[in-house]
Amino acid sequence: MRIDIVTLFPRMFDSVLNASLLGRAIESGTLEVKVHDLRAHGLGKHRSVDDEPYGGGAGMVMRPEPIFDAVEEIRDEQSHVVLLSPRGSLLRHDGVARLAEREHIILICGRYEGVDERVAEFLADAELSIGDYVLAGGELAAMVVVESVSRFVPGVMGNMTSLESESHSQGLLEYPQYTRPAQYRGHSVPEVLLSGHHGEVDRWRRAQSDRVTRERRPDFS
Ligand code: SAM
Repeated sequence: MRIDIVTLFPRMFDSVLNASLLGRAIESGTLEVKVHDLRAHGLGKHRSVDDEPYGGGAGMVMRPEPIFDAVEEIRDEQSHVVLLSPRGSLLRHDGVARLAEREHIILICGRYEGVDERVAEFLADAELSIGDYVLAGGELAAMVVVESVSRFVPGVMGNMTSLESESHSQGLLEYPQYTRPAQYRGHSVPEVLLSGHHGEVDRWRRAQSDRVTRERRPDFS
């Protein structure tokens, strides 16, 4: 899978793309992630990428030309172009899984007051929000997309089966997890997890998943 990111702040991605599972997946070639500096497509000698909003109002809006130019330079027939936007459809587990089936994703990061609407209308295939709040820019949202999508790409996670029991995978939240020590500050690990009875452990985990989901996310049922 290939992911291209178009941003005014490419350096923001340095640590995220070099650490942990993502860093290893990129280094091994399992995943290809490239970050493109939108400023390179800026206009005039100041490489300008924004301007005042037509109709007046606060702040600056990102002009369409640099974004169209940057994306058209990267795009091919396989590309799925995503504009990160708080007005987009909310990214959820099933949306992440669907994105992971794409061969090539291009992520456009907005800044300032946002992006000229013609980008959403005539360039992007989808608009995605990572939550009902407003960030200063699309970079952190793009990182969320890259990390969540990459976990579905074969070879990125050490053990793909861990995806199957994780929160959100079957419309449920995960059961509580414990590790050593069995006693800590007077708090014990549930007896059943120490019993060695796999059937009972599975039943306990399923019941706990149901309970946690019912309590925390009644909207799931
Ligand atoms: N004025 C815009 C509005 O009210 O919808 C908000 C613009 S925001 C300050 C600047 C950029 O941050 C957006 O263009 C988008 O790329 C990114 N952004 C902000 N919140 C986001 C969210 N919840 N999900 C995805 N991207 C977001």
